[in-house]
Amino acid sequence: MKSGEAMGSVYRCPVCGAEISLIRPGGGHLTPVCCNVKMELLGEVNAVYHCSVCRCTVMQIVDRGGTLSPRCCNRSMERVTGAHPPL
Ligand SMILES: [Zn+2]
Ligand SMILES: [Zn+2]
Repeated sequence: MKSGEAMGSVYRCPVCGAEISLIRPGGGHLTPVCCNVKMELLGEVNAVYHCSVCRCTVMQIVDRGGTLSPRCCNRSMERVTGAHPPL
């Protein structure tokens, strides 16, 4: 697996500070651009969870150090990792 194109990878624009996060890797080579410069890949990866019942998918945008345990359809959502999520 190529680094930086996993689910939840975060890219930031060094000029304006805009950030994007990869929700669904497509198998291509992602090269986001903002303010005419290539966005930088940050080391952090946002946690992604999905519901195995209805396939609802959520991404943690802000981490305040708590213990996030999202639930959907009356069950705990599964943490999704890697470039090929079971969606
Ligand atoms: Zn920018
Ligand atoms: Zn659900």
